[in-house]
Amino acid sequence: MTPPTTSTRIRNPRKAARHTTFKDVTGQHFGYLTAQWPAGKAKWGTSWLCSCDCGRLTVALLNNLGRKTISCGCVRRKLSAQRTTKHGHTINHKPSRTHCLWTHMLGRCENPKHQFFRNYGGRGIKACERWRGEHGFENFLADMGERPTGMSLDRFPNNNGNYEPGNCRWATRKQQAANKRPITPEHCRNISIGKRRAMAIKKQTGKTS
Ligand SMILES: [Zn+2]
Repeated sequence: MTPPTTSTRIRNPRKAARHTTFKDVTGQHFGYLTAQWPAGKAKWGTSWLCSCDCGRLTVALLNNLGRKTISCGCVRRKLSAQRTTKHGHTINHKPSRTHCLWTHMLGRCENPKHQFFRNYGGRGIKACERWRGEHGFENFLADMGERPTGMSLDRFPNNNGNYEPGNCRWATRKQQAANKRPITPEHCRNISIGKRRAMAIKKQTGKTS
């Protein structure tokens, strides 16, 4: 329900009113819209400036008012958001921080192309069945709650265990660092560092890290 863009220049309302087939609908309601004043003549008829119940203004063709056009677009946006929102954590395809973290957790464990797969899925760390699949995120949210600011998901007490209720906590950077695997030469070889990050370091220091 975007307002028509072609030839809907706001013209002098009096000029528009002079048109022979002009129909005055000032103050009439069309769905959520209330016609305010004529906003010009488009190819397909007069367009009207309308105020929407949500407070926005929009220009719509009179022919479409009450048929194709019943709001400024807020109704469609609301419905679409409802359709794509299961848990209130992905609104208009934009995931929340907690949702993002959950996606990355699964990625690290299940996607061999993930930057850090080697350190997770690659060494047998899995996400429990409850946190995967269709209702995985809802379950994760119910078990762990929202991600507190500045904290990340830590496998605790068993750092080699899976991502599952009972082996996960929200930890500060400090807590998480303390819970890391002891570094071994083998581990050093296996640390995967992103290609882009490696290139950035190379650029900065003039040598590979
Ligand atoms: Zn509206």
